[in-house]
Amino acid sequence: MKEDIMTRADEVIAKTYKRFPIVITKGKGCNLWDTTGKQYTDFVSGIAVCNLGHAHPRVSKALAKQADTLLHVSNLYYTEPQVELASWLTQNSFADRVFFCNSGAEANEAAIKLARKYFKDKGERERFRIVTMEKSFHGRTMATLSATGQDKIKKGFEPVLEGFDHVPFNDMDALHDKIGPHTCAVLIEPIQGEGGVCCPDDGYLEAVRRVCDETGVLLIFDEIQTGMGRTGKLFAYEHFGIEPDIMTLAKALANGLPIGAMLAKEAVADAFGPGAHASTFGGTPIITAASLEVVKVLSEENIIAHGSRVGAYFEERLLWLKNRHESIVDVRGKGLLVGMKLKIEGAPIVDACLEKGFLINCIQENILRFIPPLTIEKNHIDALVACLDEILDR
Ligand SMILES: *Cc1c(COP(=O)(O)O)cnc(C)c1O
Repeated sequence: MKEDIMTRADEVIAKTYKRFPIVITKGKGCNLWDTTGKQYTDFVSGIAVCNLGHAHPRVSKALAKQADTLLHVSNLYYTEPQVELASWLTQNSFADRVFFCNSGAEANEAAIKLARKYFKDKGERERFRIVTMEKSFHGRTMATLSATGQDKIKKGFEPVLEGFDHVPFNDMDALHDKIGPHTCAVLIEPIQGEGGVCCPDDGYLEAVRRVCDETGVLLIFDEIQTGMGRTGKLFAYEHFGIEPDIMTLAKALANGLPIGAMLAKEAVADAFGPGAHASTFGGTPIITAASLEVVKVLSEENIIAHGSRVGAYFEERLLWLKNRHESIVDVRGKGLLVGMKLKIEGAPIVDACLEKGFLINCIQENILRFIPPLTIEKNHIDALVACLDEILDR
């Protein structure tokens, strides 16, 4: 059966992913199982998506109930789950309004469009450029790959969309120099995810906020990966005592169902009036009902605080590992967004972990990324660290 699925996939699925040779059939909490019955501990969470773990009973129940009631109606009508979710998000963030869509890239598209429209409406028609960071990742659509600061993402799709300037992360001088009369926004991940779990230097994001204020430029935080408790706070910006003007969310917002959201303060959100932007499925009842349960579980069950504690323990254990192995260059991250940079290639380590029953992820060739469900326990971490210790000994 396993061979059959893999062979058929190779024949009919677009070749955009290089996949590991397992077929996953089932998940529960922090565990996954494949067709052979082998169990894995999941330190990937569908790339920071399943923050509550797999098959969470409360989310499954909310989903089943909504499925029996109403899956979808057009945004031409009001629905309760969408309003409840938007209310929760605005009550728990800096924002006043939410635009719902279906993915991270779409949320960033909305943010890019809103930033441009905001200045067009003010009569500043030449302010349309957006400064983003080198090594950033903002998505795969034409606008978001243009925003992304990695050549490998753009290669073959040129010409990219006009209006994006890139500067190095953590370099205030470069940002100062790049912001000009045509700049409408700075778009930045508070911690770079795909780029290698790169954390901001002390005071950097605060300085970015300041230069945006001084120049009248909007600050957009892409919290698609860092949001929903991943870094030990609901949103990563809370670590820094500042707020963006616009924020984008997706990944963990519905624990595995496709959703994206763009949040903004009233004065900025005003630029999106009727007809300005739209999405057929955006905020549809089935997805927002599930997401509403996700945010309730997050807040009622103290999951973010747990993730923060376990994340600190994880970092401690990886630093212990770093002391034992010269091949480890750096351990970094916040909460349960954890990176470990190696002197050696990461792919063989990922393969060896898979063999031993641990799913982990490698980015930028030599950075192992650990993004388990926030419900992960110390014993899972101890088991992974023992496994890595043994693999790195070889
Ligand atoms: C994953 C990700 C995206 C893209 O999200 P999709 O849902 O794959 O379109 C954008 N920005 C960041 C920071 C991400 O991690």
